[in-house]
Amino acid sequence: MLRLSSYLHDLGVCLHFQDDSTLKHYVILKPEWATTAVYKVLDNQTVKEKLGCFTKDDLKNIWQDGEYADMRDELLQLMMQFKLCYEIRDRRDNYIAPQLLSTEKAKYTWDDPHNLILRYTYTFMPKGILTRFIVETHPWIEQQKLVWKSGVVLNKDQTRAEIIENYNQREIKIRVAGNRTKELMAVITHELEKIHNSYERLQYQTLVPCNCETCKNLPIPYSYSLEKLNKRLSDRRYQIECENSYEMVDVRRLIDNVMFQPAKADGEINPKVTPLQSELEQQREESLKHRLKDSNQKEVFISYTWRDQQSKPLVEKIEQAFQAKGIKIIRDINAIGYKEKFKEFMQRLSRGICVILVISDQYLKSENCMYELVEIAKDKDFYKRIFPIILADADIFKSIERVKYIKYWEEEIEELNKAMKEVMADNLQGIREDIDQYREIRNMIAKLTDLLRDMNTLTPDIHSESQFESLLNAIAVRLDE
Ligand SMILES: [Zn+2]
Repeated sequence: MLRLSSYLHDLGVCLHFQDDSTLKHYVILKPEWATTAVYKVLDNQTVKEKLGCFTKDDLKNIWQDGEYADMRDELLQLMMQFKLCYEIRDRRDNYIAPQLLSTEKAKYTWDDPHNLILRYTYTFMPKGILTRFIVETHPWIEQQKLVWKSGVVLNKDQTRAEIIENYNQREIKIRVAGNRTKELMAVITHELEKIHNSYERLQYQTLVPCNCETCKNLPIPYSYSLEKLNKRLSDRRYQIECENSYEMVDVRRLIDNVMFQPAKADGEINPKVTPLQSELEQQREESLKHRLKDSNQKEVFISYTWRDQQSKPLVEKIEQAFQAKGIKIIRDINAIGYKEKFKEFMQRLSRGICVILVISDQYLKSENCMYELVEIAKDKDFYKRIFPIILADADIFKSIERVKYIKYWEEEIEELNKAMKEVMADNLQGIREDIDQYREIRNMIAKLTDLLRDMNTLTPDIHSESQFESLLNAIAVRLDE
């Protein structure tokens, strides 16, 4: 959290994440807004009681205010960007904020005697190094369980690593055991160094344990600073004296014990990224993408009118059924300020989402609704995109009803025509546009009824009874395309 605040403070004005596929669409002008939102999660009593574990439903409660409600996915993404939480592997929509984890060490056994050991000590230790490390390495947490506020056990390809922070002693201790100890150690040190580098002028030492006969059996062997060992090596001093046993120890072997040197390609100097490192990076990215696919693409727009009694309650029911399946419903677009907004919105729609039409008598007589429909119909995939529900009072399958609506719009056009004759020619611009639009609407009704005849449209009663199952299925198929 400290990092977030200081980052925001450094930045002063606004936030923009160009590399994040969700967040790049936004510039956050008021960082306090984002900070407050994040604190709402980390200070939440339920989340604290659950030791940092929370779900999307929890977030729905925490961020229910209008200013957050529409931005939940983006705020969650922001928290992950700041390494404040991660999604638990194989448990969709379940997250952990490591700084709220239990302080009690997890229970596990560790009996492998052949360990690789490395230690970092800090002159001044900033808070949160380990919690960030946990977020970065979360795909490999053993059973997704062996993690607590100041420690974690990773398990990858039968190789285990224990990383424990001791804040009072200003140190982080690492031990690794198993098949690929050096490789896993290389990933751990790489991740920790990335974190170290994000702090300005962080002073720390990397300590390598002694491997002399005496130290081998000691719980706390003598240790050498890695930096000093490297200096010795470059100064061609190949041995160093252990201050426990006064034995001379081989410097190169001390370094080789803990540092993994990946096979070098011809001429390439020390390629830093090991296969294991790439694997971790890939898994981390996937855990983000996975979520994005869910939240970003599954948007469904619903077009309906407020003017009658039946449409709104039906829309609310649909919204609930879809929300339960994690699909976001967008409605009331025309409440925000009509035509211009709607054109913008249509461009967003062109990414390929679905439109549910709740067609009632009033819908077919509403200029706004019909305008939406005309705009939606301009899309070439119109037929694939719309999912109509026809209410009983708009039975446009019957020719007589259909004629009734065509007549209605013709009368509207007629009325405008009449009005036109009563005003001076130079004031006619807006009215002419309206007439063109009304003509489009009139034609739309003819087109729509043709279309609906071919479509399998169910009545609202059947939809409601089945919890909108067939509608959901049809839309799910479309969204997965
Ligand atoms: Zn020794």
